[in-house]
Amino acid sequence: MTPNAVYLYRSSAGVPLRRKLRFERKQFAWQSYDPATDTWTWGARDATSTLYNLHLLAASRPETVLVTEGEKDADAVIALGLLAVTSGAAGSWRRHHSEQLHAHSCTLAVVLPDHDSIGEAHAFDIAEQNLVMGIPTKIVHLPGLSEHEDVSDFLERGGTREQLLGYARCTTPITLADLPSSPPERPRSPSGAFAQNAGLIALYREKLNLPPTARGRIKVRCPFHADANPSLAVDLTQLVWYCHGCRIGGGPVDFYVKWKAKEGQTVSRRFAWHRLKATYL
Ligand SMILES: [Zn+2]
Repeated sequence: MTPNAVYLYRSSAGVPLRRKLRFERKQFAWQSYDPATDTWTWGARDATSTLYNLHLLAASRPETVLVTEGEKDADAVIALGLLAVTSGAAGSWRRHHSEQLHAHSCTLAVVLPDHDSIGEAHAFDIAEQNLVMGIPTKIVHLPGLSEHEDVSDFLERGGTREQLLGYARCTTPITLADLPSSPPERPRSPSGAFAQNAGLIALYREKLNLPPTARGRIKVRCPFHADANPSLAVDLTQLVWYCHGCRIGGGPVDFYVKWKAKEGQTVSRRFAWHRLKATYL
């Protein structure tokens, strides 16, 4: 199968580290580079360890850095002669990405989120980590975007570099007070806020293949370890779970974060909560 795009991640010194292959229907795969043999092997242990375009950031040390949600968008912005980076997919931004911006003299980050709730949550993740590092950050909502559209769509419709910079200039930096509250803590009582989240029972039903008749406290095989006996306890009334094998547990947000990790994706609790709300509530 031939990829329809290949995104090369390089170290700050420009050395190839890994690459992300994009196939039909937004399917992705990673390969790691072995400099000793000059070969590529499937998989990447540290797919989100460094920013895409880190080498360009290191080489030019621009004061303003644009941040997109994916590599294709970053490349579209680079083509305008601006510097853009990305952590890869939505939900993958971590403290070390902000540290990389900081280490290369970034004094203003301009986030260009995809126009949907996931993009919004991702933008707030970036802003929050940047603010911790003391990097002023703007979240720019480009005009005229439909649901799920992004900066590439804006540019394809004739949006220009000057317009992009103009919108960035007109946007005020995010402050800590602008950040939405974090996802709810683990539910402790069956009343109140928990009752509003009862739809999240569908998360457990779906991921654990529970029969529609399952109620109350049940035990099932844990999807997070090789489980011969059912050792995952789920309370479908309180929406909490605990695996006696893994010795971990929590609420729906923790479950979703763990589920994504199993699929090889690191997501933040905030991202998980937005995704759960959008899917089940
Ligand atoms: Zn387990």
